[in-house]
Amino acid sequence: MCRHAAWLGPSRALSSLIFDPECGLLRQSYAPRMQAYGKVNADGFGVGWYDPYRPEPVRYRRSVPIWTDANLPGLAEVARSSCLMAAVRSATVGMPIEETATAPFTDGRWLLSHNGRVDREALRPLASDPESACDSAWLASAVFARLRTGIPLAEAAPLVVREVGKADPVARLNLLVCGGTEIAAIAWGDTLFAHLDEGVLVASEPLDDRPGWQAVPDRNLLLASPDGVLITPID
Ligand code: GLN
Repeated sequence: MCRHAAWLGPSRALSSLIFDPECGLLRQSYAPRMQAYGKVNADGFGVGWYDPYRPEPVRYRRSVPIWTDANLPGLAEVARSSCLMAAVRSATVGMPIEETATAPFTDGRWLLSHNGRVDREALRPLASDPESACDSAWLASAVFARLRTGIPLAEAAPLVVREVGKADPVARLNLLVCGGTEIAAIAWGDTLFAHLDEGVLVASEPLDDRPGWQAVPDRNLLLASPDGVLITPID
């Protein structure tokens, strides 16, 4: 499983997800503490954030280990936003290692990351023009296709997961989707945690040992918006 994290709240630097916390995504790329599938996340990384200068998020992703990008620490220090996402990847066996297979995937104002594995046959009826043969790219295209029809995020993400979960009962479908002012995160087969203070931090596993990290139960959807955080069962 890959690892991902997101923030919604007062403006913060991207480094708050990666480099600043003791167990941020940099550390999780080589020493994750709760990862059940895969040992290191060295097959790529990506970040995304929202800037008032453009309607779409800024996305930067590469197919190399996050610790090899010497330009990232400086970039992550100045990239500040009220909505941030970062992900590190451990490619599933058989999946290509390439930039287009790396989260965050993006479409319009959406950023999406996936921790898990899913049979692409289960996605065939839903996927729409994926950018890579990677299962996560197929899953992203399926969610984006639904969002494009105007289905709200709170419905589109669980709708796809429920449908794909039926077609592939052993699929692991932890999804993280950001829209700039909202976050949807699904626990479906892997760990998911949230930490609330002046905003909400969502992550595959805690970024530090502060008290207050809360585990999101499996098959639950976490929705974060300026109105607060809601955790509800999916089926
Ligand atoms: N299956 C996805 C990939 O190959 C996600 C992998 C993961 O969560 N480790 O990128």
